[in-house]
Amino acid sequence: MSLVAGFLASNADWKTLNSFAEINLIDPVQQSLSEQGYETPTPIQAQTIPPALAGEDVLGCAQTGTGKTAAFALPILDALGQDTPPALPNRPLALVLAPTRELAIQIADSFSTYGRYLKIRQTLLFGGVNQFRQVRSLDRGTHLVVATPGRLLDLMNQGHIQLNHLQTFVLDEADRMLDMGFLPDLKKIIAELPDDRQSLFFSATLPPKIVELSEELLDNPVSINVTPETRSVDLIEQQLYFVDRKEKRDRLHDLLSQPEVKRAVVFARTKRGADQLCKRLVFEGINASAIHGDKTQGARQRALNAFRRNQVHVLVATDVAARGIDVDGITHVVNYDLPDEPEAYVHRIGRTGRAGESGVAISYCCGDERAKLRAIEKLIGQRVPVIGEDPRGDKPKRSSKGKPQGKGAANRSGSAKPSRRRATTQNKDQRRSNDGRGTNERGGPQGGPQSESKKQAKRSARRPGKKARLRKQRDAAAQS
Ligand code: AMP
Repeated sequence: MSLVAGFLASNADWKTLNSFAEINLIDPVQQSLSEQGYETPTPIQAQTIPPALAGEDVLGCAQTGTGKTAAFALPILDALGQDTPPALPNRPLALVLAPTRELAIQIADSFSTYGRYLKIRQTLLFGGVNQFRQVRSLDRGTHLVVATPGRLLDLMNQGHIQLNHLQTFVLDEADRMLDMGFLPDLKKIIAELPDDRQSLFFSATLPPKIVELSEELLDNPVSINVTPETRSVDLIEQQLYFVDRKEKRDRLHDLLSQPEVKRAVVFARTKRGADQLCKRLVFEGINASAIHGDKTQGARQRALNAFRRNQVHVLVATDVAARGIDVDGITHVVNYDLPDEPEAYVHRIGRTGRAGESGVAISYCCGDERAKLRAIEKLIGQRVPVIGEDPRGDKPKRSSKGKPQGKGAANRSGSAKPSRRRATTQNKDQRRSNDGRGTNERGGPQGGPQSESKKQAKRSARRPGKKARLRKQRDAAAQS
């Protein structure tokens, strides 16, 4: 069974919604969705939105390209848009943390799109730019903050933002945050979150450190696994070429000169390598731009926008910078250098084959990259199809049951352990009751299946949704 099949199997029990009309979202949000042409929720949306609307914590194993932004944005907008509370200075009601500036910008754009008919004020915080405008926006009052961890913590330390009014906290791409060394910052931010909040946690992979973090953060979460990597198997044609290092440039040039390569992302291992490669391509008459962490925010955004508008056909990127690239119509992904981390291969090739389109992912592997290739193949549980000669000459090694053996694979297939906070949240649990929208199942105390009666008991013990609580408070206020 492939990594993908493992994911899908673990989702088999989830109730899936077939249309947004089945989800009880407020009219202004429904309207913006229909204007976007969204009719059918993606799997992560179908499974996340109902429990999130009911106030449940969610642990979602999903990555960019699955529609997860709307999965957390719609419930937040729905809750804020019910009666649009005043935007308090420096005290947001919802916070979304994203690892990169690009991703934070995309998330904020999505909130603007889905919330266009609501009077929600949002503030976008990221580093590398002057903080003046960000602070001014916080001072004026904001419902929602989308931020990268470093700048958020900086502004918290300066007293420009307090999290004590927070109702919903979203941690997006948690695994990438840890890869980027944000764990100490995250811990400091998490320590400031109020206890009575909802947390939505998304990660593409669930290595042990992520599971540990999710246990700290989440209160008895609904666990959801979806994989966008069906694309890597079904829609993305993978090709591998064994080449000499010095051959790579010419090969790349030949490839990018083909008319069918309409929009390509080329991955280089280092920032310097990306710059050199980009210069060379431009010199050869190929319309390319580089995007990596040493570029200013403005330069990165300009390159991305030009790529989106088709003014630039080739983006040469490093892994970190490419993480937030959400551009439809990328026909080719080229692994000019194989990635150091095998998981990055999956993220990289997922830049193509989006929105149901097909795509081609080409990898060049030279002699000293064979170990990296082995790690990738171990992770994805299959051999990448070789074009031309395969100098390895050996037969693919199969694992005992044909299962992927990589550490990501092992972790992905397991469900998350229950929260350590559960024991301390009895009061919260006592307030729970099912409002009819939290239709998904929870992981049992050992992460295993629960009996039907246990599930029933849990359902009826759920706290009322946020909306129900707000309604109750309003009614009480009206009566007094
Ligand atoms: P995300 O994973 O949030 O980055 O979303 C990936 C892409 O899918 C974005 O271009 C979204 O605009 C698009 N998208 C998200 N949800 C839907 C939906 N239900 N129907 C159609 N497109 C969607």
